[in-house]
Amino acid sequence: MSSEVVKWGDDAQYVSEPIKKKDGRIVPQAFMLWGTPDPLGAVAAVGRMFKGIPTYDLADITDDERRLYWEETFKSHLRAPHEFIQLHFFVEGVSRSHTHQMVRQRTATFAQESLRFAVKEDLANEIPLPPSIAEGSGAAKVWTDMMFEMEQAYTKLVNSGVPAEDARGLLPHATTTRLHWRTNLNDLLHHAGNRLCTQAQFEWRILMISVMKAMREYVEGDYIDNDGHARPHPSDWQWKLIAQPTPQTFAPICYHTGKCEFRAIFDRPCVIRDRVDAFAAHGVPSEMWGDENIHWEEPMGAIRYEEWLMNPDAAR
Ligand SMILES: Cc1cc2nc3c(=O)[nH]c(=O)nc-3n(C[C@H](O)[C@H](O)[C@H](O)COP(=O)(O)OP(=O)(O)OC[C@H]3O[C@@H](n4cnc5c(N)ncnc54)[C@H](O)[C@@H]3O)c2cc1C
Repeated sequence: MSSEVVKWGDDAQYVSEPIKKKDGRIVPQAFMLWGTPDPLGAVAAVGRMFKGIPTYDLADITDDERRLYWEETFKSHLRAPHEFIQLHFFVEGVSRSHTHQMVRQRTATFAQESLRFAVKEDLANEIPLPPSIAEGSGAAKVWTDMMFEMEQAYTKLVNSGVPAEDARGLLPHATTTRLHWRTNLNDLLHHAGNRLCTQAQFEWRILMISVMKAMREYVEGDYIDNDGHARPHPSDWQWKLIAQPTPQTFAPICYHTGKCEFRAIFDRPCVIRDRVDAFAAHGVPSEMWGDENIHWEEPMGAIRYEEWLMNPDAAR
């Protein structure tokens, strides 16, 4: 249902661009727009400083040093080296309830499309079914019917001159949106720990998978070497390394610390908690938790990534 511009109640309003689909579907997607050039060079320079080695030019740092200092950062409590890696993502296809959670990160900067001015068209079609509602089910019909009814009412209000900032009051939490997200690697990994945990809403896990993919695929574009040849930018391999999921990076917080960190009376169950507790009690590091070749004695037992990553019911 389209809006009639002439009847809009606020000159500043504009039609919200359609949400970009992936394989024909609306899903949370991250696009990496920018990252610190030579990120592991920056990490190595900081690590070298801790050892009293000044760096006047990142070109003086070898790739071996880049790899070495990256590995070493995970053995130290000091988090500053990762803070030298800045990241700028554009995120799209996430719900408004998701961005409400995102912006609780006080260490990041955000710029979101405002529904005060962005008039949503094709609103209902841009709202996917939540993971607990199967396509074609009775629940799906209830959900979809309500979305179209709500879209109709919203559009009617906007077209009759009600400013979008008022009409948006009708819109559901599931309305999809877009925003820019500036963070640094230390804070990103802190949030990956919190939000890849089964305690967080499933939408986070889909977004984090897309964040990792965007980082791995990030290229600064070709650069021209001294002989005039276009070559892949020297830092491309670094992003692939940084975004590799490891127990210390893109994994639930229990993998980072070696034990479950959600144990309060207000925390919820978790499908892997019993095994995490058993591993913690036996001092087994999280690097080994997924090893299916070891004969674990119960209640220990190998934990597959999919168990927490792909299961929306993992904390129910
Ligand atoms: C599973 C889960 C469930 C949640 N449920 C709820 C809920 O039901 N209700 C709710 O309201 N919220 C909820 N939250 C949000 C949560 O309470 C935090 O607000 C959010 O996760 C941000 O986390 P943070 O404070 O660690 O991160 P950030 O805000 O990014 O801060 C990171 C760290 O930076 C430091 N820092 C940041 N700002 C300052 C400052 N001004 N001064 C000093 N130090 C600072 C602190 O050390 C902080 O730990 C939930 C979060 C998760 C992961």
